Amino acid sequence: MISKVVCIGWNYKRHIAELNSELPTEPTVFFKPPSCIISDGDNIVIPEGVTNVQHEVELALVIGRRCRNVSESEAMDYVSHLAVFNDVTARDMQHVARDAGNTWCLSKGMDTFGPLSEYVSADGIDVNNLDLELYVNGELKQKGNTGDMIFTPSFIVSYVSKYMTLEEGDVIATGTPEGISEIRKGDVVRAVIKGVGELTNPVL
Ligand code: MG
Repeated sequence: MISKVVCIGWNYKRHIAELNSELPTEPTVFFKPPSCIISDGDNIVIPEGVTNVQHEVELALVIGRRCRNVSESEAMDYVSHLAVFNDVTARDMQHVARDAGNTWCLSKGMDTFGPLSEYVSADGIDVNNLDLELYVNGELKQKGNTGDMIFTPSFIVSYVSKYMTLEEGDVIATGTPEGISEIRKGDVVRAVIKGVGELTNPVL
């Protein structure tokens, strides 16, 4: 069971540049509610009146054992599985600065805004060198490598666990590389991480 989906924002330099933001000195941490999770093949549904919804392909870490305050060197011992995640975001709403809650919780927390692939065992996979790609209607939009993260997976697990207990089954999404773009009704979004899996979701 997923008790929480912890997400990291601003974790690839060129993605930060495309959003005109400054490089972070600490990870930006936020939640998506488990109710937003859908599977491979399920529809991403854009609610009426919501504009400029965008895709974000991300490597997801799945926690295998409850942990709290783990060191960076031990952190990956607590990650049992990996998956492909799409941090679907209503960008216009996210950028409305007058209400801090709406900007992140609502814009990223809507039903169906968390496509998550089947899990693969993390054993033997180098999480610091994985190619990520995202296609809209077959056209390549995002291309990156987890080696370009500002904060590495092991740092992220250690950092988050300093402040909150990570439960078995929790998911940590590690941020997206550059190339985000709008998705619209009728599009098909395919996210791929070589060696981990892939995820295809039509947009309704
Ligand atoms: Mg994201």
